[in-house]
Amino acid sequence: MNTLPAASPTSVQVLVNRQRNFYRTGATRPVEARQEQLKTLRQALEAWQDRLLRAVHADFQKPRQEVFLEIGTVLEEIDKAIKLLPTWARTRHISTPIMHKPSSAMQVPEPLGVALVISPWNYPINLALVPVVGAIAAGNTVILKPSELSPVTSQALSEMVAEYFPAEWFTVALGGPEVSQALIVNPVDYVFFTGSPHVGKLIMASAAKNLVPVTLELGGKSPVIIDDKVALDPVARRVLWAKTFNAGQTCLAGDYVLIPHSRKAEFYQKIQEGIGEFFGKNIEESRDFARIISPKNVDRLAAMIVGNVVVGGKVNASARFIEPTVIEVDDPETHPSMQEEIFGPILPVIGYDSIEEALAFVNARPKPLSLYLFSDSSKLQKRVQQETSSGSFVINDLIVQAALSDLPFGGVGNSGMSSYHGEKSFEIFSHFKSIMKRSLLVETPFRFPPYKASLSLMKTIMRWFG
Ligand code: NAD
Repeated sequence: MNTLPAASPTSVQVLVNRQRNFYRTGATRPVEARQEQLKTLRQALEAWQDRLLRAVHADFQKPRQEVFLEIGTVLEEIDKAIKLLPTWARTRHISTPIMHKPSSAMQVPEPLGVALVISPWNYPINLALVPVVGAIAAGNTVILKPSELSPVTSQALSEMVAEYFPAEWFTVALGGPEVSQALIVNPVDYVFFTGSPHVGKLIMASAAKNLVPVTLELGGKSPVIIDDKVALDPVARRVLWAKTFNAGQTCLAGDYVLIPHSRKAEFYQKIQEGIGEFFGKNIEESRDFARIISPKNVDRLAAMIVGNVVVGGKVNASARFIEPTVIEVDDPETHPSMQEEIFGPILPVIGYDSIEEALAFVNARPKPLSLYLFSDSSKLQKRVQQETSSGSFVINDLIVQAALSDLPFGGVGNSGMSSYHGEKSFEIFSHFKSIMKRSLLVETPFRFPPYKASLSLMKTIMRWFG
């Protein structure tokens, strides 16, 4: 067994040292060796697929189809990395000016060493393993610290990894915040964190003590702007899908909707119809709607269901069930649903009179992970893109941007720093070492003191040869 059942500071230290010693042997360096490990990860996922589907379901009744999509995107990332790794790992040659000839310059990607991936519970396979693919592709050893809030899945991941990988190359450390912190300060060479902005700040503060670089994939309130003309039929269905996929426990779900006052009633009606279409008469009996991860989160979400509830509103705390709920919010400054990221199937709707008002509302708040605009007007699409800042900007859909492995995924400001997926994952887990090679045969005139060249001669030389 290569996992840490209840990782203690000593066992964490032993683990980091063991990985570092292994890393220093150079075994992770050859591209072929990395490709072999990625193939092993693929085999492991295929062999464990059913057990993983059951594990995530046991944690919060996440529908099997939704878990299957999670695993599918990891497999896609693996296949792409195996195929393109020789290109990603190539040396980048840089031209050198005449003044520095004869010489050559290049950038060579090299691994960072021991990488730590800290993942959340909501997409417990995807958000754990997609970064791991990048870390292994770049030639690092990896310690994965999955969430303690999805314990059955975390245990399954740790058993799967133990069965297929030597612990010195890739292992899982089980536990809560204390384990993440012990790993960061040991220190590791890189931290890839997915989670809340609050914990992201704590991670960054701990990593800063040893100047350990971090990627922070965080959350926040992603707005959905609906314009005054777009047909509400597909729009409401897509917004509803994003709010009910994984029971709205998705960092990229639209957090709240901004819509012209005159369109609110029609929007509510379309959402109500969509709920019936998706989940039938009794959503609590539907197998396609997940549960809330913990009693604490049920209480947190239930406290938001106040005021003008226009759709849904039912809570069954003992079943950790929250019905898809729409709330018309007149005072966003005070309504509980507008004070923090919702992360559940609750949708506040805020009316606006002009698009300027909607944009001012968005820009007065922290930069979101994503901004969604539903509009057929290319003029408005361009305007919103240019006048706002967000990790991603998506026109006429939600969440799907994360499925494009060639489109880097990440936040900005409060929603995170740096991005990943595809080649970008390889880049963030690599150091691009700058290398310059010179000849000893030719000496540059005027280089050494006492300086014989006048400033005007130097300026001329720089202009012509620099
Ligand atoms: P969280 O921040 O509470 O926990 C995430 C991970 O950090 C867990 O493994 C946890 O054990 C660890 N952790 C918690 N406290 C810690 C501490 N003090 N020190 C070190 N490690 C600590 O987040 P969560 O509840 O698991 O997930 C929900 C949040 O994650 C939401 O804000 C959501 O938007 C965000 N999220 C972001 C993305 C993204 O890709 N940007 C994806 C999913 C979730």
